[in-house]
Amino acid sequence: MAKVVFKSDLQKQPSLFPISFEGFIPEKHPVRLVNTIVDKIDISDIISCYKGGGTSSYHPRILLKIIIFAYLNNIFSSRKIEKATKENVHYIWLSGQSYPDHNTINNFRSSKLKGKIEDIFTQVVTMLHESKIISLTEVFTDGTKMESVANRYTFVWKGSVEKYKEKLEKKIQVVIKEIEKAIEEDNSKGTEDSAPTSTSISSSELDKKIDELNQKLAQVKKSKRVVQKVEKLKKESLPKLQEYEGHLKEMGERKSYSKTDKDATFMRMKEDHMKNGQLKPAYNLQLSTEKNFITNFSIHQRPGDTATFKQHMQSYKEKYGHYPQVAVADSGYGSLENYEFMDQNGIKSYVKYNWFHKEESKKFKTDITRIENLYYNEQCDYFICPIGQKMLPIGEYVRRSELGHEYTVNRYQAGNCTKCPLNGACHKQKGNRIIEVNKKLIFYKKKSKQNLISKEGKELRGRRCTEVEQTFGQIKWNKGFKRFLLRGIPKITIEVALIALAHNVQKLSTLINFSNLSAFCTNKLTIIGKLLNFMKIKIQYPRSKKLKSKQILFLFNHDYKIKKAA
Ligand code: SF4
Repeated sequence: MAKVVFKSDLQKQPSLFPISFEGFIPEKHPVRLVNTIVDKIDISDIISCYKGGGTSSYHPRILLKIIIFAYLNNIFSSRKIEKATKENVHYIWLSGQSYPDHNTINNFRSSKLKGKIEDIFTQVVTMLHESKIISLTEVFTDGTKMESVANRYTFVWKGSVEKYKEKLEKKIQVVIKEIEKAIEEDNSKGTEDSAPTSTSISSSELDKKIDELNQKLAQVKKSKRVVQKVEKLKKESLPKLQEYEGHLKEMGERKSYSKTDKDATFMRMKEDHMKNGQLKPAYNLQLSTEKNFITNFSIHQRPGDTATFKQHMQSYKEKYGHYPQVAVADSGYGSLENYEFMDQNGIKSYVKYNWFHKEESKKFKTDITRIENLYYNEQCDYFICPIGQKMLPIGEYVRRSELGHEYTVNRYQAGNCTKCPLNGACHKQKGNRIIEVNKKLIFYKKKSKQNLISKEGKELRGRRCTEVEQTFGQIKWNKGFKRFLLRGIPKITIEVALIALAHNVQKLSTLINFSNLSAFCTNKLTIIGKLLNFMKIKIQYPRSKKLKSKQILFLFNHDYKIKKAA
């Protein structure tokens, strides 16, 4: 039998030289990219919010590197990040062997990054733009609903609050009248008859009224029953009324909110594990991408995408100082207000509208009930109905959109429908057929359609699914980030920005050939070495989809300075 030989156990073997973690980091590893990118960005805003004094602090650059790398590895919990900094060699290398605890990590993430992280995100995207990886001219926009950390049964519904408030107000008015009547009866001198109050009463009005009643009670012979009623008004009705008012104030224009995450609104989600259409506390996350890099994000409390577009585009301008030249989005964004906004700001619209795909079907084209199938004479301003009658204008009115945008609706009526053989199939109205037309919307739809069916439009429409939709898939399914961990829009913004940063870094690391870049990252090569490496990239990947050598060099060697939006 051959002699068994085991490899020697070096656990207790002291080393002659201290161990360098540099050797443990693979050349291709994205941790090197995180390190390089964070080293390049300007974090003076974060540094300026440190007060100083007391014990020394962990450097924000180290904490930022750790957090971005943790998000890149789908680790979102501060305790798990803390564990990784002690156990994972990549984190140990990245943090320079500093071991911040979960409180430090959490405090840095939720307090120090508040209001600053968006700027860091903008710097990284601008870096990608300046290295010509993205052009910042086109955006593919879509939205997804992301669940809040709040409990699913902490809802407050506007309808219920309004209903109970109204009931309470009526009850209060009745009690007040009873008290006043009783005071009148008890008072031998007689009191002045108070003016009848309206049904609605605010908490401040009730508070004043209670004071008034107490003053009156002080002047007359007090009945115990009346005093108890006034006390009940003060102790029970007033706080309840204040609570209802507080709920309505918190909700604003929303129809619901969560008691434990007041910024969250109850929305219908695609992920319905109970299969009962249950509404859950959530946020509407809007993302814009270009070449799968996230270029813009915004968080909204409205479940619908239509009303979020304008604000989302404005946030894009705030970040980069200009609007994109091209916007691609689905029919959820195809409203008059959005089309008008794009037209006014020089954004070429590739935004679909309802019926865009159905318009081409035979069923749609032969549907005589559709206004789109009626001929319109622009010069003389009339429509021709399916049988050939003129539909003349009979007036117009102004309609207001969800966001308060006003637009004119024109009305046209057919001359005589009574003896028409198509009556009943053409319309279900009692008299002659009346149609309502939003001319501006028709104009913008036509314009958008021309763009959408052009060669460029077809290409952009095809790319839309693999752009922003894929990014949502990456975040929600591959990263497993389906629910926020923090509460309130300011803190949620931090989470989204970190996810977006991690996504962009990950995307970049897969895009570039990292083996060639590790040399740049470590800064160990001499100038000749760099040149050789540069040439190696050129020879090895002359026509590959990977980044061009110039772009790589720019990313890693360019003295990067952020150009903040004016
Ligand atoms: S029902 Fe009236 S509107 Fe319709 S085709 Fe006949 S005349 Fe025209």
